[in-house]
Order: sequence, then structure tokens, then C-alpha cells
Amino acid sequence: MAKVRYIKNLADVPQLSPQEVSQLSRVTRKFPFGANSYYLGLINWADENDPIRRMVIPTLEELGDEEWGAVDPSREAADTVAPGLQHKYPDTALFLLSDLCGGRCRYCFRKRLFMPHREHEILKDYRPAVAYIKAHPEVNNVLLTGGDPLRLATAGLREIISALREIDHVQIIRIGTKMPVFNPFRIIDDPALPEMIKEFSTPEKRLYFMLHFCHPNEITREAIAAVDILITSGAILCNQNPLLRGVNDNPEVLAELYKKLSFIGVSPYYTFQTRPTIGNKPYAVPLVRAYQVFQEAKKNLSGTAKRATFVMSHALGKIEVVGLDHFHIYMRYHRAPDPADTGEFIVARRNDGGYWLDDFVIDTVSFAGINDTVVGSTAGAVTDSRIKVSAHYR
Ligand code: SF4
Repeated sequence: MAKVRYIKNLADVPQLSPQEVSQLSRVTRKFPFGANSYYLGLINWADENDPIRRMVIPTLEELGDEEWGAVDPSREAADTVAPGLQHKYPDTALFLLSDLCGGRCRYCFRKRLFMPHREHEILKDYRPAVAYIKAHPEVNNVLLTGGDPLRLATAGLREIISALREIDHVQIIRIGTKMPVFNPFRIIDDPALPEMIKEFSTPEKRLYFMLHFCHPNEITREAIAAVDILITSGAILCNQNPLLRGVNDNPEVLAELYKKLSFIGVSPYYTFQTRPTIGNKPYAVPLVRAYQVFQEAKKNLSGTAKRATFVMSHALGKIEVVGLDHFHIYMRYHRAPDPADTGEFIVARRNDGGYWLDDFVIDTVSFAGINDTVVGSTAGAVTDSRIKVSAHYR
């Protein structure tokens, strides 16, 4: 018997009044609602600002600033080589396997997948995508994402992973999932899943699960049991979370999240600046403030708890924020589509109201590799390949 019931209508959430349901239906017509009985059960309904409520129950603020954000803020369309298959960094390919999740995070940067009249972007047939990977020996890791790949039955997921495992140059397969958070019973009640992990997460080539805990209240007894099944089956677990206003934009809360994750064997991996996505302004924190919260949170943590990197998943690449002073914010290309750009250092003028790289004026772009030392201002001393950021945003 299923322990968890998926809920698509706000009217089926008994804690909301008919007035609230009617008001919020203006929001859900544009950005649909989704949750389930387990996750809703974690909400303290007496607290208007409960963090889990904030992550899953709509707010009228989502309609507040129509000018803010884009439908595809990281411009994934440009990296899409076939429907449902993205290839941005040479060694990494991404399959969009599902447009379903255990619920719908209000702050989702891929909410376009769920919106009415959307274009269907998910992989309908995995075989051409696998053939593409086979033909691209530079791809050594494949990220299965969506939506949530664990909304697929294990048999379907197994077929895809099995086909990828037949390709010698694919070393790492990552599964991006919020299921241990949204619905841990998807893992607890499915003995086929740990069997599949045991089969394909080998000593030489591991399966990674990229989890999505955003708040310590999500780390429940059931979530820990699901995590334990993944670990004892041989998977490697990491966590990636956006920094969200009213959820984890408090150093104590974020530190608690990192600490608890490290206790249960989930390595904090990326903390993301919330992408400027349509409807997501209520969840976004300005970049300077977000970086300060991130740094403050890490102050009193052990090394195992503070392994996260704070990044912007920008169309230009993964840009890590590494420092701040009164006048500047310092960033570095953590990943770039052209590997020659990785490590590029960016000095931008501090702007406490800015949310995204595009809101900052770049002063200097520099690079210091072993055989390539270039330091200069955007006025012209840097080489063409190193000037992409400034060229875009000056
Ligand atoms: S689980 Fe991920 S893809 Fe699904 S709604 Fe949440 S953020 Fe979006």
C-alpha cells in the first residue's frame, strides 16, 4: 500500500482555507502546484514562515515582478543537442529523463518543464542519446536529471543505466534527485533500487546520487533511512541546494544543514545562487548577501561539513564566488565550456542589489596558468578567449 499520496490541487490541502486556495489559484494557473502527503506533513502550519511551507506552497509574491527572471535562466536551450540531451562541458552530458518530481519546488529553475503550454523537452527515447554519448569519447560522466529520474520505475531507469554502463568512456553516472527529501518511501519501499545500485555502482565506476536537501527540517528519520539504503548499496552521495530567501538564508540554518548532511554521509557539494527564473524573485537573495551567509555558515564547521562551493550556474559556465571586500566581489570560472577558461578570475564592482553576474560591472579578468600568465583589465590587455565575461556584460 502506498504510504504517500501525490497532490496536485491546492484544494486537497486541508490546512489551506477556501479563501487561500482561491487566491493562490491565480499563481498555480501560471506555475502549477505539486506536493505529497509525506512532505506536507513536515510543515508546521502554525508558522506562516515555515521553511517547508515556503518551498512548496505558492505565494502571491510569485506574480509580483513580471519583469524579473527568464523562463530558461541558464540558457539550457543553447546547450541542447537533441530534445532532452544537453552537452555544455566537454566531459559531461545531461539527460532530462522526466518532467515529474516528488513535488514542485516553488523556486525550481526548470519550472518551464511544468508550466502550461510548455514545449516538451524530456527524452522520449533514450537510445539516440546513448548513441550520441557513444560517439563522443570526451564524455566521461552523464547526469540523469529532469524533473526527478526516481519518478521513473526502477526497471526503466535500470535500462538506461545499463546501456550507459556498456560505454567504456562513461565513468560516472549521476542521478539528480530530491526523492529522499520529497518521498523517501520511493526508496525505502523499492528493493529493486538498491539491487540496481549494487549492480552498477562498482569499485571502478561509481553511481553518484546528487541529492537536494535545502533545510535541516527535511532531514527526517525516513530521509535518513533512504540515504542509508543508497549508501549501503554502494552509491556516493552529494548534496546541492540553492540559497533561498526565507528558507536557508540564515547562517545558523545553513550551517545546521551542512553539519547534519555530513553526519549522515552526504557531502555538501554545490550551494547555488538562486537563478533568475520567472516567478522566483521571492526566493532569491542578492549575490553579496548570499555569499556573506555562505561564508558565515562555514565559520564553525569541520572540514567534512564545509565542502560546498558557492556557484552561479551561468550560461557562460559555473562561476564560483570566492571573495568580497568593500569595493569588489571576486569570482572564478569553476567550470567553463572551453576548458581553457576554467580558473579565469573575475573582479567585479560590488553591487549589493545584484542577483546575477549580469547585474555586475566587470573590472578585471585575469588568468594565471602554468604556461599562460595573463593579467589585465578589460580595457584590452587580456586575450580574446579570456574576455568573454566582460565582452558580454560591459
Ligand atoms: S525537485 Fe528539482 S526539478 Fe523537481 S521541482 Fe524541485 S528543483 Fe525542480
